[in-house]
Amino acid sequence: MNGNSGASTGERVCDMCGKPAKIVGPFIELSPRPPKTERHLICGVCLQMGLTTIQNNQKKAPAALKEIKIPSPQELVDHLNQYIIGQEQAKITMAVAVVNHYKRLTAMTAKDDGPFKDVELSKSNILMVGPTGCGKTLIAETLAKILQVPFAVGDATSLTQAGYVGEDVESLLLRLLMEADGDIAAAQRGIIYIDEIDKIAASRGNVSITRDVGGEGVQQSLLKMLEGTVANVPQGGGRKHPEQQYIQIDTSSILFICGGAFIGLDETVGRRIGRSQIGFTSEAATDNAEQSKDDLLAQVTPGDLHEFGMIPEFIGRLPVLVTIKHLTEDQLVDILLKPRHALVRQYQKLFHMDGVDLEFTDEAVREVARQAHGRGSGARGLRSVVEQVMIPINYRIKQIKPLKKFVVDEKIVKAEGKADVMRLIEQGK
Ligand code: ADP
Repeated sequence: MNGNSGASTGERVCDMCGKPAKIVGPFIELSPRPPKTERHLICGVCLQMGLTTIQNNQKKAPAALKEIKIPSPQELVDHLNQYIIGQEQAKITMAVAVVNHYKRLTAMTAKDDGPFKDVELSKSNILMVGPTGCGKTLIAETLAKILQVPFAVGDATSLTQAGYVGEDVESLLLRLLMEADGDIAAAQRGIIYIDEIDKIAASRGNVSITRDVGGEGVQQSLLKMLEGTVANVPQGGGRKHPEQQYIQIDTSSILFICGGAFIGLDETVGRRIGRSQIGFTSEAATDNAEQSKDDLLAQVTPGDLHEFGMIPEFIGRLPVLVTIKHLTEDQLVDILLKPRHALVRQYQKLFHMDGVDLEFTDEAVREVARQAHGRGSGARGLRSVVEQVMIPINYRIKQIKPLKKFVVDEKIVKAEGKADVMRLIEQGK
């Protein structure tokens, strides 16, 4: 047997990262030169990393680090407004925090003989708290895009503390490095968004003396990285093992943005300030209930987060606290129509490429928003509702010629693609 089988399963694995083909895709098999006989397997991910490293080493002079042009917070917010509906306060707080982060990087490298030369600017990682599908990831990603810095998203639930089965926290850095095309200097100025951070809260009332591997342990593992450390990242990804080559990445200039829904945190705030949720039950009162939750969450303090299960050291490394609000039905209507990547505009473009003028009536858009709102997953629900309606139409549309215009009305949305699509298309002619 070659050295490339999983120890216990006999499954063939990559000789560099140790992962099987079902995770890393097909292998390249390297044949040895006689008299050696042992063949080696290498996966595409490791091959790519190796190539990138060679290319980087070949560059005689390191490519000049692309200057980050730091806009003003207002410019950032103006830009964000083209993509993100609502969340006004969050956009302002995030823009100011991000600008200050990159000013700090400039201050770290520039010569300063001025009156504040002894003043150190501390790192301001960000914690975003608020309901799912309401723009947390989108705001972080859009900021990175505007600033043209590498951006990587990770999920806290897949992380485990070092030494346990699962992903090491360093895997987040590897992902960022890949987004930076292997350029370490660029990666070190990038942004990492860690989603579902609330899922690594320490279990409350945990009386067990065994270590809390999934929660507090992961928070501990992340501490150093959030603050700034030189991390050893395994070159081929995967778990660390002695023969592996490491890339060193300094995290002190990486901006970490953590986000989570923190379900129930509003109640913690309510208890603290002596206000309890009034029982909103009817569907018509959903907006009121959501608004009331938003109001409570807007008053969240580090103490509340501690009570939720986040350890104080962890909260301390995320000093900028941003709260995200539920999206109203009206805002969902705007999301369908206004942003540069608005779903309706995307479908109109696709149909236009086929010579068909696609129109959504106001009532149809409202109906999509209403259905998505009812699903309680923020703007995420919009895509599934729109696709349910549009995919069957999209599939058949070319069969009717010449079709110049197609109107999606409320009835079509309500039919949810279940009705006879051809009949609907006939109606739309
Ligand atoms: P989360 O808050 O769970 O991180 P996301 O930012 O990933 O949610 O949102 C999911 C998708 O919903 C986005 O890709 C975007 O298309 C849409 N979306 C969410 N919130 C907004 C918003 N405020 N404005 C515009 N689009 C939004």
